[in-house]
Amino acid sequence: MAENKIPYKIYLDESEIPTKWYNVRADMKNKPAPLLNPGTLKPMTAEELSPVFCDELVAQELNDTDPYIDIPEEIQNFYKMYRPSPLIRAYFLEKALDTPAKIYYKFEGNNTSGSHKLNSAIAQAYYAKKQGLKGVTTETGAGQWGTALSMACSYFDLDCKVYMVKVSYEQKPFRREVMRTYGASVTPSPSTNTEVGRKILQAHPGTTGSLGCAISEAVEVATSTEGYRYVLGSVLNQVLLHQSVIGLEAKAALDKYGVKPDIIIGCAGGGSNLGGLISPFMGEKLRGEADYRIIAVEPASCPSFTRGKFAYDFCDTGMVCPLAKMYTLGSGFIPSANHAGGLRYHGMSSTLSQLYHDGLMEATSVEQTSVFAAAEQFARVEGILPAPESSHAIRVAIDEALKCKETGEEKTILFGLTGTGYFDMVAYEKYNDGVMTDYIPTDADLEKGFAGLPKFPGNEV
Ligand SMILES: *Cc1c(COP(=O)(O)O)cnc(C)c1O
Repeated sequence: MAENKIPYKIYLDESEIPTKWYNVRADMKNKPAPLLNPGTLKPMTAEELSPVFCDELVAQELNDTDPYIDIPEEIQNFYKMYRPSPLIRAYFLEKALDTPAKIYYKFEGNNTSGSHKLNSAIAQAYYAKKQGLKGVTTETGAGQWGTALSMACSYFDLDCKVYMVKVSYEQKPFRREVMRTYGASVTPSPSTNTEVGRKILQAHPGTTGSLGCAISEAVEVATSTEGYRYVLGSVLNQVLLHQSVIGLEAKAALDKYGVKPDIIIGCAGGGSNLGGLISPFMGEKLRGEADYRIIAVEPASCPSFTRGKFAYDFCDTGMVCPLAKMYTLGSGFIPSANHAGGLRYHGMSSTLSQLYHDGLMEATSVEQTSVFAAAEQFARVEGILPAPESSHAIRVAIDEALKCKETGEEKTILFGLTGTGYFDMVAYEKYNDGVMTDYIPTDADLEKGFAGLPKFPGNEV
């Protein structure tokens, strides 16, 4: 179809919402390394994982072989409330940049949680309900995951206990209130409710918390409370699986117009939106059917891919979770206090880590003032107020489009616009007032985190 026929928004029909998730691990020659039991250093079995995670989710976590997994009808129905999400041609941004590049973004912010996280929250809540559980526990940082899970739990009438990183709990009272509106209980972490929380508070009095701490607390509560399991909003294989709806829809929409992206860009915190967006494209790449340039974008203040070690590490600060092999800054790493832009987890999805290690994708890091500059440039021409996390992808999409302007190349760029930034106005305020600063950790800062990596034969780092 002629280029000028491409609409501003490519909507799929409701009947085109995927009915199966795509499991990219099935097409990977080098599978992501298995989770290890930190006591025995043997791969975690389904039996060992089942006190922590719902049974069906454990099966998905360990499934490296089935390329497609059916999406249960109840989840498909829920998806119909806010999916398919639009794929938008950024005509206004292209014009503002005066670039020959063609820019598309897949917008996942059109639901109350304001991000893609609902795609996995609803799946995880569904399997918990199906197993007859009373409730789930989780952690949340900025609050998008906690909000998404609260929505999903209220839909299935499940109890939801959220451990929210203390600094966010205090800085984002409205996020907390959204979660409570959907019926969740929200506890600032570290708390005195758990053994691990008390331990962390004793070792670091006055700490404002971290995702790693909150995970330890949520896991402890899940494993010590009858009828509860723990759920996680990113990093895990199962979460990337659920998020494949993003990429499957994006590819279906582009295919309708015969468009093939040259470059696919996504922000990377734990890797779930990026893993989901790229999955069908990466599948083609792995099967040798097509090639794409894929770029993960992370904050320079929390550079897991670009400066981390590829090693087994703890997923949480309290070291209660299994070990995962991933690009990591060490489970004790906490980004500098001036860092506003989310994406602050110390590690990265094992699946993406393996793909990156095998040279199948690239990674780059950007500083937060340049991220907010991109966010504002985008907001002013495209209208959507982007989440700071998403704006990492916007930054690099703009940079790639500007390179095309120099070279005259008409590249097609696809990026993931993961969410909206309405709860991030304190960070925008800092940027607008000109008081936002950048901090790049020194090698010495990073060494402190690496020193805490678990030491055992085969985990030389
Ligand atoms: C959580 C979140 C991210 C980062 O998480 P990933 O698992 O890396 O996708 C990015 N954008 C938004 C809006 C988020 O809420």
